[in-house]
Amino acid sequence: MESGTVEQSTQAVGNGDGPAPAAERIEVHNPANGELITTLPVASPDEVATTVARVRANQADWEAMGIEGRYYWLGKLRDWLLDNSERVLDTMQRETGKVRADATNEPVYLADLINFYGSKAAKFIGEESVRPHSALLAAKKLRVQYRPHPVVGIISPWNFPLILSIGDAIPALQAGAAVVIKPSEFTPLGLEEVVEAWKHEIGGPDVLDCVQGIGETGGALVDNVDFIQFTGSDRTGRKVMARAAETLTPVSLELGGKDPMIVLADADLDRAANAAAWGGMMNSGQICMSVERIYVEQPAYDEFVDKLTTEVNKLRQGPDSKGDPKDVGAMTSPNQSAIVEDHVTDALASGARALTGGKRIPGPGDYFEPTVLVDVDHSMKVMRDETFGPVVGVMPVRDAEEALRLANDSRYGLSGSVFGEKERAERVARRVECGAINVNDVLVNYFASDVPMGGWKESGIGYRHGEPGIKKFCRTESLVITRFGAKREPTWYPYTKNRRGLVGRIAQAFNARDLKRRLGLRG
Ligand code: NAD
Repeated sequence: MESGTVEQSTQAVGNGDGPAPAAERIEVHNPANGELITTLPVASPDEVATTVARVRANQADWEAMGIEGRYYWLGKLRDWLLDNSERVLDTMQRETGKVRADATNEPVYLADLINFYGSKAAKFIGEESVRPHSALLAAKKLRVQYRPHPVVGIISPWNFPLILSIGDAIPALQAGAAVVIKPSEFTPLGLEEVVEAWKHEIGGPDVLDCVQGIGETGGALVDNVDFIQFTGSDRTGRKVMARAAETLTPVSLELGGKDPMIVLADADLDRAANAAAWGGMMNSGQICMSVERIYVEQPAYDEFVDKLTTEVNKLRQGPDSKGDPKDVGAMTSPNQSAIVEDHVTDALASGARALTGGKRIPGPGDYFEPTVLVDVDHSMKVMRDETFGPVVGVMPVRDAEEALRLANDSRYGLSGSVFGEKERAERVARRVECGAINVNDVLVNYFASDVPMGGWKESGIGYRHGEPGIKKFCRTESLVITRFGAKREPTWYPYTKNRRGLVGRIAQAFNARDLKRRLGLRG
C-alpha cells in the first residue's frame, strides 16, 4: 500500500475471544525507499471529541498563567527541540524522504518562532487602553482585551510536518488557547514525537495533543473546536470552510500557490539563476511558495536559461545519508507525484521542451527529476495549476509590463519574487498580486516572522506571522467602564419632552463642525 493510505486491520484482544472489530489504520512509508515504517490507528470521531474535551477542561488554567507563564512552558519546548533536533530530524527524514539539509530548518524555525511570539505577545495581544473619541464618552474608561478561542484545531499537510503544525500551535498556545492537531496521514510521526515529548519529557500542561487520521478525522476536529487553522490544498480548504460554516467556526486557510519569479534584464543573472534553482527545487519543489513559473525580460532570457539549466543539472538526487549527501529528495506523497507527472506530460505534449529532467525515476523510492521547461505558455497546466514538484517553466517576456500581466494571470496569489536593479525591482514587486513578495531573494519571507504572510485570491484567508498571526487566535472583548455617573443617564427612561430635546441639542453641538449648527441653527 502507498504511504498515508488506510487499511482495514484486525487487532488481537487480550481475553482470547477472537479479533477485535475492524479498525482503520494508516500506513506510513519512507518515500526514499518505499519501506513500511509503521501503521497507526485512525482516531474515531468520538476519540477526537474526547481529546478536544480533555484539553478544553485545562484551557482556563493555561490562559490564567498569562503571557509570561505560557512563554515559560513554550521556552521549555524550544530547549527540547534544540536538544533533540537530531532525533526529530531522523524521524521526519524517514517519513518525508527529504534530504537532511531541507529538514534541518524545521526545529530552528520553531525555536525562533517561540522566542518571537514569547517576546512580542504583550505588544500584540496585551490589553489596550483607548482614548474615547468623543467628549460625550469622557466619563468612560475604554479597554480592549484579547481572549483566546478556547480550543484551536490545526489541520496540517505533509511537506513541512512540524513547521506547519507546531508552527501554528506556538502562537495559539502563546495566546492562551489549547490546541489539537490533525497531521497529514503521510507524515504523522515527527509531530507525534514532539507532542509526546511535551506531555512526558517536558511535562507541559495538558493543553496540546494530536489526533491521527485521514480527511474524516480532520472533519471531526472541525466539528469540535472553536477555531480552525488549516494548511493544505485549496480543494480541501473549501471543504473545511464549508464544514466549519455548519457550526459558524472561524477559519484561517493557508492554501496552495503558483509563485511567479520575474527576472528583469538588469538583474544579477548568476544570483537570479541560483535562486531559481534553489527556490524551485528545494524540498523537491514541495513548498507552497516554490518558484513554479519564471518570466525573463528578453535580453536576459538566453543567458538566464543557460545558467539555470547548468545549476539544476548539477543537483544530486536520491536517498540522502551522511556518507552520501544529496541535494534533492523524494516526493513525499504518491498523489503529488502523479500530479507532477501529469503537468510535465501535458506540457511536453503541447510543445514544451525539457532542457533537463522531465520524468519520474523508476523505484524503489518515489523521485521526479529536477526539471527545467521552456517553450511553455499559459494554456499549459504547468504554468496555471499548482505543480508542487521539482519543475519550473521559463518564459521570455517583452518587458516588465508583460511580466506583470503574466505573473498576475493566476487564480493563486501566495507569494513571489522579482530580481533586478534594486529600485526598479522594488517598483515591479509592489505590483505583483500576492500576500508576500521577495526582492532579489526567494522563500526568505517565511523566515521574516515580523511581517504577515497569507494568500490573496484562492491562496487563502487570514495570515500567519506578525501581529495578525497571533491575534487571529483571539476574540476581542471591549470593556466600556463607567468611571462616574448619576443615578440616571439623560438617555434613559423616562422619555420626557425636555430631556429628549436636551439630548438632541447636546449631540448636535458635539457633532456639528461649524458654529451655526453647533448653536442648533440650520447651515
Ligand atoms: P491536502 O489538502 O490534501 O491535506 C491537508 C490536510 O487536510 C491533511 O491533514 C488531510 O488529512 C486533511 N484533510 C483532507 N480532507 C479533509 C477534509 N475533508 N476535512 C478536513 N481535513 C481534511 O493537502 P496536502 O496534499 O497534504 O498538502 C499540499 C498542499 O498544501 C498544497 O496545495 C500546498 O500548496 C499547500 N500548502 C500551503 C501552505 C501555505 O502556507 N499556504 C504551506 C504548505 C502547503
